[in-house]
Amino acid sequence: MVAATLADDLTPFSGVQPDGAWRDEVRRLARERDAVLLAHNYQLPAIQDIADHTGDSLALSRIAAASDASTIIFCGVHFMAETAKILAPDKTVLIPDARAGCSLADSIDAAQLRAWKAEHPGAVVVSYVNTTAEVKAETDICCTSSNAVDVVRSIPEDREVLFLPDQFLGAHVKRETGRDNLHVWAGECHVHAGINGPELAARAAANPDADLFVHPECGCATSALYLAGEGVVPETQVKILSTGDMVTEARNTRATTVLVATEIGMLHQLRLAAPEIDFRAVNERASCRYMKMITPAALLRSLREGRDEVHVDATTAARARGAVQRMIEIGKPGGAE
Ligand code: SF4
Repeated sequence: MVAATLADDLTPFSGVQPDGAWRDEVRRLARERDAVLLAHNYQLPAIQDIADHTGDSLALSRIAAASDASTIIFCGVHFMAETAKILAPDKTVLIPDARAGCSLADSIDAAQLRAWKAEHPGAVVVSYVNTTAEVKAETDICCTSSNAVDVVRSIPEDREVLFLPDQFLGAHVKRETGRDNLHVWAGECHVHAGINGPELAARAAANPDADLFVHPECGCATSALYLAGEGVVPETQVKILSTGDMVTEARNTRATTVLVATEIGMLHQLRLAAPEIDFRAVNERASCRYMKMITPAALLRSLREGRDEVHVDATTAARARGAVQRMIEIGKPGGAE
């Protein structure tokens, strides 16, 4: 462990090695702060390994709300820490680097959503959890990738639906429900959009016995279903899963090789869950720079200095909480990203 340095813009806070001294100091400071450490599945391996809990964003937010700890250190991106704060308003929520944003959450803001609603009066707004607190406050029902189809099916057939922000998840829901009155916002995650169909098809052809674990935000989710429909890949081998459900499926599958179409941080938990399986990324370059801003140096600074604290004003939080709670009540919410 050596002295840390902070550069401006989006350069990660760096200069600290995740060695034994770092781990001891992180654990000591967490006890001193009465903090629970939560890490998303896309975090750096050292951050996943030091955390009290690793998982998808919804599972982590529920753990945050149920925890006895007075402080939550959320190692993930900003909207995830906000969701934890919405569900646990009385706790102090810290994110080690507040600059860790999300290109998908940033693809729509509250003003844009209000304008879209004005074009479709009476429409029901369904938002994936990758949205800011302000957007959730303008939402009727949030959804996860696991229950998005059930959430939309719970809405009367004659009501228009505005689905946001992810166009790939929206396309998946539209296909499954067959609804013509479902409008999809054209947002995307730059990381998941970079995992494309041709790449997946080539990998599947080279590994005909492999399972395919595909996150529905992937640009290739449609291709994966198409390949299954064409018989190129047996339908039983294509599994559209949230990141949390991927870990569960890793423990259950009989495949010896699994192709993984999501952010590469996911491979760490999959390999821990099933070390005997050969997990391979469909795209090794699919790394989220925002997730990787939560470095060992940033976590140490967060614990030492109590930063960066996440605030959501009470009115916004109350409205957003209603949308999140409706999501938890419908279908099997499972996990989110
Ligand atoms: S991988 Fe994409 S959706 Fe996930 S946090 Fe990064 S930018 Fe957002």
